[in-house]
Amino acid sequence: MTTRELQALARQHDTPLVVIDHEILRRNFAEFRRHLPKVQCYYAVKANPDPAILRTFYAAGASFDVASVAEFMLVHDLIKDLPAKAQQDYIWDKIIYANPTKPKETLQALDQYKPLVTFDNLAELQKIKRFAPHAGVVLRLRVANTGSQCELSSKFGCDPGEAVELVLAAGKLGLVVEGLSFHVGSQCTNFENYVQALNIAAAVMKESRERGHPIKILDIGGGFPAPYNKHVRPFRELARKINAEIDRLFPADIQILAEPGRFLVATAATSVARIIGKAVRDGKPCYYIDDSVYHTFSGIIFDHCQYPLKAFKKGKTEICAVFGQTCDGLDVLSQSEELPDLEIEDLVYAENIGAYSNASATWFNGFPPAKVVHVNVKE
Ligand SMILES: *Cc1c(COP(=O)(O)O)cnc(C)c1O
Repeated sequence: MTTRELQALARQHDTPLVVIDHEILRRNFAEFRRHLPKVQCYYAVKANPDPAILRTFYAAGASFDVASVAEFMLVHDLIKDLPAKAQQDYIWDKIIYANPTKPKETLQALDQYKPLVTFDNLAELQKIKRFAPHAGVVLRLRVANTGSQCELSSKFGCDPGEAVELVLAAGKLGLVVEGLSFHVGSQCTNFENYVQALNIAAAVMKESRERGHPIKILDIGGGFPAPYNKHVRPFRELARKINAEIDRLFPADIQILAEPGRFLVATAATSVARIIGKAVRDGKPCYYIDDSVYHTFSGIIFDHCQYPLKAFKKGKTEICAVFGQTCDGLDVLSQSEELPDLEIEDLVYAENIGAYSNASATWFNGFPPAKVVHVNVKE
């Protein structure tokens, strides 16, 4: 999308605005499939649950990773027009419920769909047995998240040394461990995390098979890094490593799936905001915009992400601060942004803001989340 098109959309729809380009969604999905042809792609809905995004990925052939009943129903709505039999056969193919800890009400609500759900400890397994006995289970392993932007390994995954015991325990309860899963941490630019995790999963799978519990599914999780800057090595390099390890470590008939979130949506969205105030503090220009870290820029807080702001206006740039619209001191987008001299009513934009951004926007301070506009949607 050109800067002229962005400005036109901002004039038409007003700010704050988030523009989602479905051509980029389709391109990202195609890139994922092209480089990992043996891997079924389950889009992680929590990265951006906008139903229009889900429809575009569904049309492209995606499956989905969900982590709440609400997300499950969003995806279930996409497949509800299929015949009942196909819906049932289809469900593992289209949805994995990948939140390892589930309240009993969630399990009760999901059981009728015979879902595929993850777990990482014995108490969860017993809960699944009691409240969702028709579920298939996938064991989440704890793996290294070294260097990832968001680390998950202190909260999720069983110790690999306990994994086989859990597989056997499931068998005793009459549940079958259908698969193993892991997550190397979000925005994982350290590709060795994937190599190590695949080796751990292969060892667990081998021992389980030897002890009479063959495992059919390998879920390599999310973490695939979005190209936020030139330091992120290309996806095809990571894919080459993953493909080589998969070929080396696993039997050919294993079913492999992945749960990319960020990689598929981050680059598809651009936010446009308006300067609503300016000041000079300690000699530094300060701008206030009509969005905030409680809204589209929530990823600054929750996702440890930065989104460089750009001006449409040309001119010599200066180091400045950019603040959000709310009356909270935490609401700082940046203390050192490089922007030209801007006036009130000028527009600024931030690219690559499709993942963990407006998905976690709030209504804090009475300001509604930004309007979302979709472009290049195929009907
Ligand atoms: C959040 C999450 C994902 C998506 O992670 P990305 O880093 O955005 O690819 C995948 N799987 C699980 C279980 C998650 O919690």
